[in-house]
Amino acid sequence: MARPNQATLDLDALRHNVVLTRQLAPDSRLMAVIKANAYGHGMTVIGKALQPQVDALAVACIEEAVELRDAGITVPILLLEGVFEPAELALAARLQLWLTIANERQLEWLEQSTLTQPVSCWLKIDTGMNRKGVPTDRAMACHRRLLECGQVRADPVSFTHFATADDLDAPLTQRQLQRFDQLTVSGPRSAANSAGVLAWPNSHYDWIRPGYMLYGHSPMLETHPAAQALRPVMTLSSAVVAVRDLAAGESVGYGCTWVAARPSRIATVTIGYGDGYPRNAPNGTPVLINGQRAPLAGRVSMDMITVDVTDLEAVQAGDTVILWGQTLPLAEIAKRADTIGYELTTRMPARTPRIIA
Ligand SMILES: *Cc1c(COP(=O)(O)O)cnc(C)c1O
Repeated sequence: MARPNQATLDLDALRHNVVLTRQLAPDSRLMAVIKANAYGHGMTVIGKALQPQVDALAVACIEEAVELRDAGITVPILLLEGVFEPAELALAARLQLWLTIANERQLEWLEQSTLTQPVSCWLKIDTGMNRKGVPTDRAMACHRRLLECGQVRADPVSFTHFATADDLDAPLTQRQLQRFDQLTVSGPRSAANSAGVLAWPNSHYDWIRPGYMLYGHSPMLETHPAAQALRPVMTLSSAVVAVRDLAAGESVGYGCTWVAARPSRIATVTIGYGDGYPRNAPNGTPVLINGQRAPLAGRVSMDMITVDVTDLEAVQAGDTVILWGQTLPLAEIAKRADTIGYELTTRMPARTPRIIA
């Protein structure tokens, strides 16, 4: 029998989430963000499934875009970080990739290039994230240079990225929107990530750029009604491989961080941090065994975890274990592990097979 770990992908859920996303922003075009291996789900599988339903895809860098084109994906693909050296421009043009221009250096590379065909450009404007993008007072000039650049197709898109759109009380989002609105650049605009799509209707503009919500999760700090109907795409599962009874006072696992307070039954599950389960998930983090919740007991190892099943109906080797997914919220595990769901799915290693449900 093969090791039972799998990240099961529900592509119907993915398609459902796209439909829901479109309903929230019916007048905007949809660019689906599938950078970083589609947040760990598997970039080509997700890209192919999304292709018929979206207007464009977005990845971080040209290596990711090449993988998509090699897989036969033909929809427009935006490089969210643009190119990292001028040598990438010819390939980007040949593969008909859309380029982000996030600074004047990237703009100069483009102006000085001689491409066989013009490229479509997105001008990234920094309205308050203070990480990347041209400053607001340079936006006009950069936009004009793009319009005048022979290498650039008509109608460059101006876009910005939110720092705090997941927090309805943070004042920065409105400030970013105000700064973005006050720019006098013409042409199409884009601002909304998933949080923008869900909670900031005045951020939808011509293009929305959701990622996380397409995978079925809400980035919002508080539960948000618009996110209620999203369906998780990934379910991470494994199986029990051993069960043992411990006397009170015995410990489990590395460092003896869990000690039996009573006679206890421990199930060993063959999934660990080498398979994408977070090592810092503490004692008490829930897993589902045969659909029943049970708490983690002892440290997460590379290849296994241990679970206190004393209070469960008879558990035996071979029983199915769900670590997160449609029946156990990713956000709950992320919170226990002191991280966000984005990181948990994105860190899923190649070792864990992706299986289409
Ligand atoms: C990653 C990214 C997104 C998508 O963000 P989500 O929170 O996953 O929706 C949108 N825009 C840019 C520029 C990004 O880098």
